[in-house]
Amino acid sequence: MTAGAVAVLYVNLDGMTPAAVAAALAPRSGMETAPIAAPAAASISNASATKLFGKPVEQLTVGATGAAVSANWTYAFKMSDTPARNVLAVLPGSDPTLAGEYVLVGAHNDHVGTLAASVDHDSTRAVNSVTRRQGSNDPSCRPTPDQQHQIDSLISRARSIRPIRRDSIMNGADDDGSGTVVLLEIAEKFASEKPKRSIIFISHQGEESGLLGSKWFTDHPTLPLDKIVAAHNMDMVGKGRVSSVGRRRCRRSDHVACRGSSATSSIR
Ligand SMILES: [Zn+2]
Repeated sequence: MTAGAVAVLYVNLDGMTPAAVAAALAPRSGMETAPIAAPAAASISNASATKLFGKPVEQLTVGATGAAVSANWTYAFKMSDTPARNVLAVLPGSDPTLAGEYVLVGAHNDHVGTLAASVDHDSTRAVNSVTRRQGSNDPSCRPTPDQQHQIDSLISRARSIRPIRRDSIMNGADDDGSGTVVLLEIAEKFASEKPKRSIIFISHQGEESGLLGSKWFTDHPTLPLDKIVAAHNMDMVGKGRVSSVGRRRCRRSDHVACRGSSATSSIR
């Protein structure tokens, strides 16, 4: 980039899909970013570039000068009507010397919102309990005639006691309801065991939107970050077979990865 550029225009608009263009202009969620001093950037079409330079982009040479252009674009930050928040708790350590050190135990409590279509609880449960006893450990499959018979009978039993219950919420039992309940179990256990070091428990929000909750905590810590001597993050601990544990190696030498699944997870 030339030193002193006030903006950069990319001639790549024509190569973008209509969906990408619509997404770029649509409202999106995220944390308000601090103003940055970097040059502004925008995508323009071939036609606009031709207008600027008076000839097609393919005929331009490096250093060609185009017409002067002025532009102005901005965005408005609006606080969500349903703001999210991390939930934190501290268990003070029992050892006067070590109590100033903290072990962080965390998991995220959000998932990925709602489905466009709703599904019936009892039908879903019947299919899963017959064909996928171990949840996502078992692949989706077409039921055998015998399994279909079992499914039909479970559904008709459910129908005999209650109406259809439709729901479009993606509940995220594994990602990360599993980590969330283990977090609560660990907190309950340590509350009676009284460990020497202090423990900070964090139930993060907004993980699926881009690790927003954990970023917020590290950007706005409630205690000096250098007092945290270890962090234990749990994500998707509810699936996987015993043989899967430790199969994936961690890329960082100061991390320990112990995953119950061959699925990837975000440990930051
Ligand atoms: Zn997760």
